[in-house]
Amino acid sequence: MKAVFAGEVQGCYLYSRHSHPSSDALSAGLAALEGTEAAVVTASGMAAITCAILQLAGAGDEIVASRMVYGGTYALFKNVLPKLGIKVHFVDVRDLASVKAHVNERTKVVFAETVSNPLLEVSDLSGLSVIARSVGAKFIVDNTFCPLVIRPMDFGADIVIHSLTKYINGSSDCVAGVICCSAEFRAELIDVGAGTAMLLGPTLDSLRAASILKNLGTLDARMERHSRNGAAVAQGLIEAGATTYYPGHASHPQHDLFGKQCTGSHGASGMLVVDAKSEDRARAFMMKLEQSGVGIIAVSLGFHRTLISNPGGSTSSEIPEQDRMAMGLTDGLVRFSMGLDGNIKDTVTTIVQCWRDVAP
Ligand code: PLP
Repeated sequence: MKAVFAGEVQGCYLYSRHSHPSSDALSAGLAALEGTEAAVVTASGMAAITCAILQLAGAGDEIVASRMVYGGTYALFKNVLPKLGIKVHFVDVRDLASVKAHVNERTKVVFAETVSNPLLEVSDLSGLSVIARSVGAKFIVDNTFCPLVIRPMDFGADIVIHSLTKYINGSSDCVAGVICCSAEFRAELIDVGAGTAMLLGPTLDSLRAASILKNLGTLDARMERHSRNGAAVAQGLIEAGATTYYPGHASHPQHDLFGKQCTGSHGASGMLVVDAKSEDRARAFMMKLEQSGVGIIAVSLGFHRTLISNPGGSTSSEIPEQDRMAMGLTDGLVRFSMGLDGNIKDTVTTIVQCWRDVAP
């Protein structure tokens, strides 16, 4: 027991908040997915982000984070971390000079999403990892939008986070997260004396871990279909004249960078954003989409049905209005998480018709 508590003996389960066979099996699968040595699963994506950050940073330390991240992450960084004495610099990570100007010897983490929520801005992973490394900081990448589409470890990431709630579980019936990392960092995270994943209590339930592991087996096929459908809808909406952001489409300003970072085997994911240019039009568009049966108005993503949301009023509402406007995160945006529709041609026709009904 002494050796188990000291972390010297593996494969003997000391207590389920530390780890259990189901969380270890899921962690091993997710480590393989992201090409890391190890992983720690958590009870939510937010728990994964919180544990990773607090393991690395404390009072007096600094973080450089993308200004465009999921609203909950933004609120954690803006409102909670400063209370713990951690200073957060929000920057436009597309501007590497600005990132460089904000790192220093106190920087412990550089944080970005592979493709940002919701505007689908693409992070230059290699560029960011070099800057993080230059000051000895860890580069954490939230890859929730792009499992199998991008492998951040291939471009210098140190830690890869997912909200498993989304594509990886894929059935919108649970909340969970993961920190994919080195074996050394995993040992630190679950250390009985100082590990945030042990002591903050974000443990993923064993039954839930087992059920997510079953769904992981179909991620490969699901991502191909989500991506194919995302590309088809983006193409249809662009041809219909809608301002549409989809990194897999040549019209996206960072299409080339995105292409260089993609694995090539699973397309460009199923996330796209349309700018309806006003909140009223966005709402009318969403209502038409739901009434026509092509999607459900809901904030999550990665479900087998298409989910539609208005980020300004929902998943990004934590970001102050002035900051949102400065980023182009305006009230007329409609975010799509394309589902697994079999007959995508019909879906595209319906979505384009809904757009034409409300288009300016
Ligand atoms: N990261 C991204 C990109 C997200 O979209 C979300 C949730 O929407 C999270 C993290 C947080 O994940 P969870 O809701 O599982 O805590």
